[in-house]
Amino acid sequence: RGKWARAMAILKEFEEKCETPIGKLKQVADAMTVEMHAGLASEGGSKLKMLISYVDNLPTGEEKGLFYALDLGGTNFRVLRVHLSGRDKGVINQDVEEVSIPPHLMTGSSHELFDFIAEALAKFVRSEPEEFHPPPGRQRELGFTFSFPVRQTSVASGNLIKWTKGFNIEDAVGEDVVEQLTKSMEKIGLDMRVSALVNDTVGTLAGARYYNQDVIAAVILGTGTNAAYVERAQAIPKWHGLLPKSGEMVINMEWGNFRSLHLPLTEYDQSLDAESLNPGEQIFEKLISGMYLGDIVRRVLLRIAEEADFFGDTVPPKLKIPFIIRTPDMSAMHHDTSSDLKVVANKLRDILEISNTSLKMRKIVVGLCDIVATRGARLSAAGIFGILKKIGRDTVRVGEKEKSVVGLDGGLFEHYTEFRTSMGSALKELLGEEAADSIAIEQANDGSGIGAAILAASHSQYL
Ligand code: ADP
Ligand code: MG
Repeated sequence: RGKWARAMAILKEFEEKCETPIGKLKQVADAMTVEMHAGLASEGGSKLKMLISYVDNLPTGEEKGLFYALDLGGTNFRVLRVHLSGRDKGVINQDVEEVSIPPHLMTGSSHELFDFIAEALAKFVRSEPEEFHPPPGRQRELGFTFSFPVRQTSVASGNLIKWTKGFNIEDAVGEDVVEQLTKSMEKIGLDMRVSALVNDTVGTLAGARYYNQDVIAAVILGTGTNAAYVERAQAIPKWHGLLPKSGEMVINMEWGNFRSLHLPLTEYDQSLDAESLNPGEQIFEKLISGMYLGDIVRRVLLRIAEEADFFGDTVPPKLKIPFIIRTPDMSAMHHDTSSDLKVVANKLRDILEISNTSLKMRKIVVGLCDIVATRGARLSAAGIFGILKKIGRDTVRVGEKEKSVVGLDGGLFEHYTEFRTSMGSALKELLGEEAADSIAIEQANDGSGIGAAILAASHSQYL
């Protein structure tokens, strides 16, 4: 009995610390807009890098032709061949091949990673039917989605600022990733030109805009999290180049690195951060994204196991293994609708080797998933609201029927229904009924790869 009380006390304290009432979300959104301004004002002016993408023309929907894309950003990377047939046809034919990255390459050396990628690309090209071979003298062109912070030097070049999401390849930091990839391609005689280097958020924005001209921002909720949006070029003081004809520039926010005293951080978040590959960095990402949510749940479970003998007299050893509860497992438990919470029981048994759990215990586990997912979802909504505020799309102007669409992509958003729903309702709450009518969240399925191919098309050397 005393043990239950202790466990409940720990959980209750965690729940309180995770609370995200609307007032707090508004503070977070305001802090986001403040940091956006600061990051646009000067290089290094904010935790938000607000990177200039060099994409100043978004797709019109008229783009045509055969283009390739490479999407590197999480545990898998994908090679795509995309056939764009212009607005009227509207169709995009694509072939995709997904390759998982051997873990040792994620922390090895730069040339090993890029050689591996180039080889996969070469294999893809080698196996394609005659009809896709380019005419003599014409190079294949590639859009490279690289979902790590990059300081771009042009639309097709840029230097890696730092790794995130479990990657850590020291000798690649500071290097031009297109140059690295090109070198690896040349080594094996693969004749391909990288005509656009884009962040996945920028790719997703471009991909979504190809279909819908109302798209003004894109957010990724996957292994990591990030956002990109269309800014007025004149509102970017740190941009000293010529003003683009369009008057616009896509900004890659790198919002995963956002932090603010208003964020509801708990001691569990602090220890997760301290023990991570990148302590002190990507704090917003560590509250929100798929790489981390499951591990926050694990940490709280470990605490109640240690301090309240929640799973019996001994602490289940598996519970001490970082990241053993993955976010898809968490999501499966959270969505368990069976009356005896069978999915939860099975996950606890299979992953943590904890059997004989009572229904009461399983309910607590579900509750814990709910706390962690809800906090992440509502904070994501606050981030989106911050962007809308920054570009003045958070209110309805009299007589205007302007629509704003935010493209969303990533496995977390796509598969974690409770997360997605909770994010949607928090955003509605923040916007209010009237403004909410002019804002839509749209799933941009697989936008980042296709978007990169479309940007490769609009930056083709043959135009
Ligand atoms: P990446 O972000 O690595 O480019 P994705 O967008 O496909 O790749 O996202 C993959 C991430 O999405 C996984 O790391 C995981 O955290 C999350 N995810 C995948 N499936 C689920 C699921 N069923 N429930 C919750 N999260 C999921
Ligand atoms: Mg991705």
